[in-house]
Amino acid sequence: MTSLAQQFQAHADYHPETLPVDTGRRLIIDAVSPIVGTEHIPLRDALGRVLADSVISPIDVPPHDNSAMDGYGLRGADLAADGPTRLELVGTALAGQPCAARVGPGQAVRIMTGARLPAGVDTVVMQEAAQADAGSVTLAPGQRAGHNVRWAGEDLKAGQVALAAGRLIRPAELGLIASLGIGEVAVRRRLRVAFFSTGDEVATPGGGARDGQIYDSNRYTLCGMLTRLGCDAIDIGVVRDDPDALETTLREAASVADVVITSGGVSVGDADFTRAMMARLGEVLFWKIAMKPGRPLAFGRLGRDDRAAWMFGLPGNPVAAMVSFYQFVQPALLKLAGVDPLPATPLLQVPCATALRKPAGRTEFLRGVLYPEGGQWRVRTTGAQGSGILSSMADANCFIVLGPQQTAVAAGEPVSVQVLDGLV
Ligand code: AMP
Ligand code: MG
Repeated sequence: MTSLAQQFQAHADYHPETLPVDTGRRLIIDAVSPIVGTEHIPLRDALGRVLADSVISPIDVPPHDNSAMDGYGLRGADLAADGPTRLELVGTALAGQPCAARVGPGQAVRIMTGARLPAGVDTVVMQEAAQADAGSVTLAPGQRAGHNVRWAGEDLKAGQVALAAGRLIRPAELGLIASLGIGEVAVRRRLRVAFFSTGDEVATPGGGARDGQIYDSNRYTLCGMLTRLGCDAIDIGVVRDDPDALETTLREAASVADVVITSGGVSVGDADFTRAMMARLGEVLFWKIAMKPGRPLAFGRLGRDDRAAWMFGLPGNPVAAMVSFYQFVQPALLKLAGVDPLPATPLLQVPCATALRKPAGRTEFLRGVLYPEGGQWRVRTTGAQGSGILSSMADANCFIVLGPQQTAVAAGEPVSVQVLDGLV
């Protein structure tokens, strides 16, 4: 197997000491490939899962020609060229209760939305344009043949691919699959992701903290982000700053998971012993990404055969850990989970409320708030932007992304924005 280092060195922009964000992301995405393993599950349980096989429509959708309106069904050829049209009423067609009548020339039926078109009917006129009495109906002038009808198969034809393998199942996909009469789907097995925090100072909430300790937040943000991605999130706890403890835990994590994510212990001081130890377990590369927050990042494999687990070592600072997860880990996890094509993250251009400054050469991810003002959307920062200030993430609804070349943004100038949550 070619080593990851060899694989990456071929890339023109590969500088482990100053790796551009886009290059790092590309290298990681290209290095991983989807996990194998399919399960058949009830459609109801499929939200957030990834289709393992394409869903082929077994039927036409809609299954029969039907009315798009409450009104009157008739033959389009009967509509008067100008002036009103008067037709004899010969029956009623309700949704789910088809009308047996054959509609001949000069005839019409009362018809409701979703009702199958009776034989002979090819046009529906909405009831607002009709006047009915006991046995007949008069239609206002100007009605059009073929209107207000939903034709069999106009959404999907039998045999057509309704959803391709690799599609992430959201509420719309659940409904679409249900509309085909399918009650069970083949999905990829869930991606197993084990995660733990490192650091002698890190204490688990609920258990009290010794003098000099802080409470763990990274395992909680990670658990949340992984769960939202539909992963099977395996919490391994907190590991002391001790090479033996770290090695044992990494081996254990790699044996149960497809991916292992750690936080802390990858900055310059710590990296020295972790680097040597990870080289023993597999191949893990330590990068300094040209970004803020989140400079140190480790990426590689634990184990040397096909059963090796992918490993991400995130920085310990809580904001840096989250930013690094969203920018590098999330796309890789989606690819591993079988999502295909990978969704593009929209970068919107939004006027920035205040002036911003930064040095050239690195990408910055400021925590921002998108807000409406005077009929248009603007963005401002959440305030203090330290990589340990987690309230900046909690208050944010977006990242303001300033590229490596950008150094100054004037108030009112558009900046790139990544929205954190859409309609969820
Ligand atoms: P490190 O990357 O291990 O040098 O940690 C950088 C900073 O992040 C230090 O201030 C750590 O105390 C803090 N930190 C590390 N892990 C966590 C964690 N799980 N939760 C909150 N803060 C952390
Ligand atoms: Mg540490």
